[in-house]
Amino acid sequence: MSLKSIFFLFSFLAFSLLAQKAPLNIDTNYVYYLPFAPGKKSMVMQGYNGAYSHQGEFALDFKAKKGTPVHASREGIVYKTESTNVKGGPKKKYLSLGNHIVVKHSDGTFAAYWHLLYEGVFVKVGDTITKGQLIGLSGNTGYSSWAHLHFDVYYYSEGKQVTVPTLFKTTHGIKKLKVYHSYRKPIDSQSAISKNIDKIEYHFQDASVPPLHHRSFSWILTETHLRYSANSYGTILKDTTIAISTIKWEQCKTAFLNCGIKNQKTIESNDGCTGGTGITIQTWLNEKENFSGTAYTCGKTTEGNLSGDFEKFLSIIQEGIEPVVYQY
Ligand SMILES: [Zn+2]
Repeated sequence: MSLKSIFFLFSFLAFSLLAQKAPLNIDTNYVYYLPFAPGKKSMVMQGYNGAYSHQGEFALDFKAKKGTPVHASREGIVYKTESTNVKGGPKKKYLSLGNHIVVKHSDGTFAAYWHLLYEGVFVKVGDTITKGQLIGLSGNTGYSSWAHLHFDVYYYSEGKQVTVPTLFKTTHGIKKLKVYHSYRKPIDSQSAISKNIDKIEYHFQDASVPPLHHRSFSWILTETHLRYSANSYGTILKDTTIAISTIKWEQCKTAFLNCGIKNQKTIESNDGCTGGTGITIQTWLNEKENFSGTAYTCGKTTEGNLSGDFEKFLSIIQEGIEPVVYQY
């Protein structure tokens, strides 16, 4: 073998090694949150390489009643979701019918949360989610013989999913999870920007001209009800209260985070504009306000201490609500 061919062979081997390792820089020391609410405990019903359905996989099955809130184990961008399936059972024919969420992480890995409840997905493809954020509700859809949450983290190698082991933060320290052991999520494992909210208010105040057409309205949501009211300079045009589902409430709460509703440094302008419109968004817990922000728009300028995608937020609040509730 000539020196040149040895060189080429060597380069080829080096490249092959790189090709396997280089595309990803997987953070194998990353500490995941358990995919449940803070303070909650769950047993691992099937662990790594489990004989039932995890052969050759670093996958975990957590025991979880139908409707158990699922929280993101790691921050990332929602890559895929499915929530339209109703059926599930211990037969391979149900394999493709599992509702799920797949989240892409910054190191190129993906986390999959499987067997979610019908309509039990609160995030959309493209959403940026935080660690610990509520993302859905667990269920028993797809290839599943008992209500549980399947969780695994993987990367793609030549188009195939390759699962990787994961470490979790538990009340007993950082652990690699074992089958038939129960683990509790520490109470302080809150999402960085997640809020404890039991009421959301969205107020639109119209003081523009001419007065005849002034319309102000409010959407007030609690965990069980939605109240819509509208007025024109104090004259009540509509005031309706309806019951809402837990899923609807969770969607609105998640939308508050996903639409980036937050306070900004107050912007003030002095262009002498009168009238205009204002949006005030508030959140509450146990009758105590824990967020409030207002944005005023007058002419072409917007000022105030509120930022975020208010329009998207309002559209999500409105989503699925019968027009009769807010039309007059
Ligand atoms: Zn599983």
